[in-house]
Amino acid sequence: MDLYKKTASEIKELVLKKEIKSVEVTEDLFKRIDEVEPKIKAYLTLNKESALAQAKKIDEKIARNEKTGQLAGIPIALKDNLCTEGIKTTCASKILNNFIPPYDASVVKRIKEEDGIIIGKTNLDEFAMGSSTENSAFGPSRNPWDPARVPGGSSGGSAAAIAADLAFLALGSDTGGSIRQPAALSGIVGLKPTYGRVSRYGLVAYASSLDQIGPMTKDVRDAALFLNVLAGQDPADSTSVPLETPDHLEKISRGVKGLKIGVPKEFFVAGLDKEVKESIDQGLKVYEKLGAEISQISLPHTEHGIATYYLIAPSEASSNLARYDGIHYGHQTKSSKGLIDMYSQSRSEGFGDEVKRRIMLGTFSLSSGYYDAYYLRALKVRQLIKQDFDEAFKKVDVIMGPTSPIPAFKFGEKAANPLQMYLCDVFTVTTNLAGLPGISIPCGFTKSSLPIGLQILGRPFDETTLLQTAYAFEQKTEFHKTKPRI
Ligand code: GLN
Repeated sequence: MDLYKKTASEIKELVLKKEIKSVEVTEDLFKRIDEVEPKIKAYLTLNKESALAQAKKIDEKIARNEKTGQLAGIPIALKDNLCTEGIKTTCASKILNNFIPPYDASVVKRIKEEDGIIIGKTNLDEFAMGSSTENSAFGPSRNPWDPARVPGGSSGGSAAAIAADLAFLALGSDTGGSIRQPAALSGIVGLKPTYGRVSRYGLVAYASSLDQIGPMTKDVRDAALFLNVLAGQDPADSTSVPLETPDHLEKISRGVKGLKIGVPKEFFVAGLDKEVKESIDQGLKVYEKLGAEISQISLPHTEHGIATYYLIAPSEASSNLARYDGIHYGHQTKSSKGLIDMYSQSRSEGFGDEVKRRIMLGTFSLSSGYYDAYYLRALKVRQLIKQDFDEAFKKVDVIMGPTSPIPAFKFGEKAANPLQMYLCDVFTVTTNLAGLPGISIPCGFTKSSLPIGLQILGRPFDETTLLQTAYAFEQKTEFHKTKPRI
């Protein structure tokens, strides 16, 4: 029936109207996965049996005319750094190869409470460190638009799954761009909520002051639907904020008449691909026609974003990853001489190169002799970056620019040079440093049919405007409907 092509909102409607059964949807999807997954490798674990059992339960609920949840009958994929009770959670690392969490992350709990169906766990760069999924210990995922290219990262498995119609909704996590950048490179919608909007309880920590979980979807309506479920305070995460969750679907078609859009001049610099720039310019024209007011703004500290992020994120990571010692958590070496050697061997065997690089970078910048010069200095620059945005949002309602400076790149093109890889994050990391919400939506294609993403940033906790703005564009364009030929 090709149900797999539909959006999550369409599926939900059909299931609730009893036109199709959730079991049919789930079966159809797994058939699609059987056919396509060997080429894409979006998943690390599939959860077929229990997904079908869950779908059956929801169908029975609907048949009995019982009240159903907001995600009734929708098959959903989760990035494999989200804890799932009874399902392996590896973070794409050998060190957690056999870790089966005894509990669900709060977002997973919410999905289940709202009758969503967990179909599997998606691939990522090890511990969410990377921009291509090439750092996964279990091999990379492929970009559905061109299997010789990366899907972006670190939530590349979730992005590829949505782009290839291997899930209706997916969750990613975004520490420095890991939802938005793979969304851009794979031609889907990716939303990073404001820091504190969504509970991080049960998300395996990379950099706790930057991490945020968010939806990766086929269109903007689905992102709004999903965010409605994910958002809200959670007593298990003290950084989640006690704010009412607005209904993001309610006013989604409000339009952009009179909306003030700021375009930072620092986002249009050397290194920005010509075709990406052209698509963004075209995108801005669409907004102009829709009645938005566009002006140039400045975010003067943007150029320090990468340096600041790549000090703060590894510093927090070095601390967060200390728990993987072979005893509390993780792989334990078979050959060691004493306790200290056991720690060292277990970590040497369990972690991949990029993770080790970041532990070393972070430990160095936190060490007593260098703390003031690196970590503390980075915290100060973080404040300046935040102030840039505060100033900008006095004048404009949203900020727009490219999500990634380049479209999807080939495997190996950047893997040998970490700095080149880090530079892919130039337009996304400052959002996390400032704690703001951001969305990437499809806004065009290169001549060789690679997707391009438009990034929209908003005021803290103003996901509503972000979604309205994104939705207005989607109503006027067809990019989100174009599918890769696989
Ligand atoms: N690419 C960035 C990094 O490697 C961002 C990753 C993320 O957002 N998880 O750290």
